[in-house]
Amino acid sequence: MTVYATGVIFDDVNFEDPNCWRIDQYVKRGGYAALKKILSENITQDEIIAQMKTSGLRGRGGAGFPTGLKWSFMPRSFPGQKYLVCNTDEGEPGTFKDLDIIVSNPHALIEGMIIGAYAMGITVGYNYIHGEVFEAYQRFEEALEEARKAGFLGDKILGSEFSFELHAHHGYGAYICGEETALLESLEGKKGQPRFKPPFPASYGLYGKPTTINNTETFASVPYIIREGGQKFLELGKPNNGGTKLFSVSGHVNRPGNYEVPLGMPFSELLELCGGMRDGKKLKAVIPGGSSSPVLPADIMMQCTMDYDSIAKAGSMLGSGAVIVMDETVNMVQALERLSYFYFEESCGQCTPCREGTGWLYRIVHRIAQGHGVPEDLELLDSVGNNIAGRTICALGDAAVFPVRGMLKHFRSEFEYLIEHKTALQAWV
Ligand code: SF4
Repeated sequence: MTVYATGVIFDDVNFEDPNCWRIDQYVKRGGYAALKKILSENITQDEIIAQMKTSGLRGRGGAGFPTGLKWSFMPRSFPGQKYLVCNTDEGEPGTFKDLDIIVSNPHALIEGMIIGAYAMGITVGYNYIHGEVFEAYQRFEEALEEARKAGFLGDKILGSEFSFELHAHHGYGAYICGEETALLESLEGKKGQPRFKPPFPASYGLYGKPTTINNTETFASVPYIIREGGQKFLELGKPNNGGTKLFSVSGHVNRPGNYEVPLGMPFSELLELCGGMRDGKKLKAVIPGGSSSPVLPADIMMQCTMDYDSIAKAGSMLGSGAVIVMDETVNMVQALERLSYFYFEESCGQCTPCREGTGWLYRIVHRIAQGHGVPEDLELLDSVGNNIAGRTICALGDAAVFPVRGMLKHFRSEFEYLIEHKTALQAWV
């Protein structure tokens, strides 16, 4: 079940209505008003980028980089083709927010991309959609067709001098294609493997041309910012953490789902919105920002607010906003075994520390989980992690290490108990 609080992207969307995603419904909700305003009032590219900077919008895909600043990196006077790309390759375990956007409110994303293209002087864009949600790709194609028919895409949009064409493309489900340069390789029809950086996509992106890549939720927030003003968006959240954020809450809560709430909301309030802990059990731990963010124990998490700075201060990351809630019954060794297997399985194999190291991490945790661990294994996990983190081409190496470090930092005793007694503190589930 999916439940929403009010906010920027899903405000006024009637999820009971199977046609809530259609263009007429979006226009009734105030959709495409921001684009019409830009074109009719000849708002300049600089003014749009200034509003984006004022809004404090930070990339919602995980990195949290300021969007207005990223847009300002695009060389606007570049004489050749430039590209705008949306990253809807949502594959981080625990994250399912972008899927809901393209299924229930795809025109917010389309309008946001058109505005982005206008602001950066781009005429061609792509939305790369995760391959395991093919129906969502089909829905997005239908929405694109509606936008073309209504004159919001194509040549001379709404009679202006501005032209922009937007295409959908689906991947085949590889997690690594969510890494922006792997995504670009895949979009070019090659094997989806990350590129060495620099050069960064702003100077050498799709087909070697300047390219700006943003996440789905990031683009979908843009129409509100242009319609209502960057300041209003900023004030929805807190300084350095402007606006609202979609949190995909899963695990042991009564009402898992996507929640659009102001950044800075106390975690305890978010938990209440989700109906509290399932079966009245006690909260044990939370992975606050997708599977690659370090786990935080209940006492620390209950002191946090849901924003980039608070979660970072507590020793984890807000990431993509995937909040995995674990109750007192969870066996943390088993939980880490599953997480480690995921990164081992999804490593693209291009660089040795990640290709070999993720396998080491998984196999060590697996043997501890099976009751065959030895006391030296915990040091070995530390050592393998130190030889992966910061030594790889892309962030997947780090992403494989963070969950291990988080678990050993906060729940080391469970690993030690299992190694010593060959039986877990918590039963297997
Ligand atoms: Fe591939 Fe892993 Fe290297 Fe990233 S870190 S390029 S996923 S092998």
